[in-house]
Amino acid sequence: MYDMMTPGPTQVRENVMAARSRKFQNPDQDAAFTEYYKETCDLYSSLLHTNNESLILDGEGILGLEAACASLTEPGDRVLVLDNGLYGAGFQDFVKLYGGTPVLYTRDYDRPLSCEDLEEFLKKDHDFKYATVVHCDTPSGMLNDISRLCPLLKSWGILTVVDSVSAMFGEEVRVDDWQIDLLCGGSQKAISAPPGLTLVTVSSDAKKAMEQRRTPIASFYANLLTFKGYYEAKWFPYTMPASDIYGLRTALENIQADPDILKRHQETAEMTRQALISMGLRLYPKEGYSNTVTVFEVPEGFTASQILDEMLEKHNLLLAGSFGCFAGKLIRIGHMGENAYKEKAEQVLQALQEVLGK
Ligand SMILES: *Cc1c(COP(=O)(O)O)cnc(C)c1O
Repeated sequence: MYDMMTPGPTQVRENVMAARSRKFQNPDQDAAFTEYYKETCDLYSSLLHTNNESLILDGEGILGLEAACASLTEPGDRVLVLDNGLYGAGFQDFVKLYGGTPVLYTRDYDRPLSCEDLEEFLKKDHDFKYATVVHCDTPSGMLNDISRLCPLLKSWGILTVVDSVSAMFGEEVRVDDWQIDLLCGGSQKAISAPPGLTLVTVSSDAKKAMEQRRTPIASFYANLLTFKGYYEAKWFPYTMPASDIYGLRTALENIQADPDILKRHQETAEMTRQALISMGLRLYPKEGYSNTVTVFEVPEGFTASQILDEMLEKHNLLLAGSFGCFAGKLIRIGHMGENAYKEKAEQVLQALQEVLGK
């Protein structure tokens, strides 16, 4: 078996796998499960420094992004799509699907967004119901400064939908301080549980916007309002994936018990970046490196698949290429969650040196 050093899914600790194999209760009929679900949501919220309610949805990270857009967007709504990466641009599809009008704010893909530039833009046009922002745009490893972007947008009365799927717990996220209205996360990145769950954290302003809609939400599965009152009624909109949630809970408890988690990510990432630079490789992006993933350009004389195949076949290490406009051009090393240990990164770097050094 190979080791996944990809920017999601990540390696999963033994105790998470053990929790998933526990005997499970009937999630629809056992009040104790509702309690367990809510406690898990509350733990997640507290780890993200918020009093906002979080919901665990039965679906991969993408469901969270779609649910946020589906629940907020009404036909004709103008939505500001901050686009400096592939996930950033991708939000426009969800906005369109639910009848909204995406307005793209497109900037270079090799650096974070500038708050000063965005502010100039907003001075001229700020009639948006909400804005979409990607924290770490994983295909390029670029990190946007949501601690400044979200309060800026909010100061213009614009709600924020933030995709921090591949950043949270490897990078700091403070939902209340940064006034994030809808925060999207996923189980398989730095949380280090298997893929299958997404989490959405909802502010009271976002709830108000959903409740005051003139038109119904054009989805059931992606409708966040279906969870309204679930706890009091002990009634979920659909049967919850109990085993997945047991695993998630243990993974969150692992994070809670790991006060140095951000430092661990920072040190592992810093070491990885320095090592790649000293091998003569060029990092992508130019600035704004996420501590969860390191991305480098495929050096001359190699192809991406050559490097990836050899890393896998000779060294049992799975790295990732990239996609879209980056396909074949970039290689990505994921060092988030359980992958964010110097020893694991060192193993990758040594193998890479061999693969590239021949
Ligand atoms: C992984 C990821 C998601 C979740 O979707 P996938 O189906 O795994 O692509 C969403 N947003 C970002 C930025 C991600 O890295």
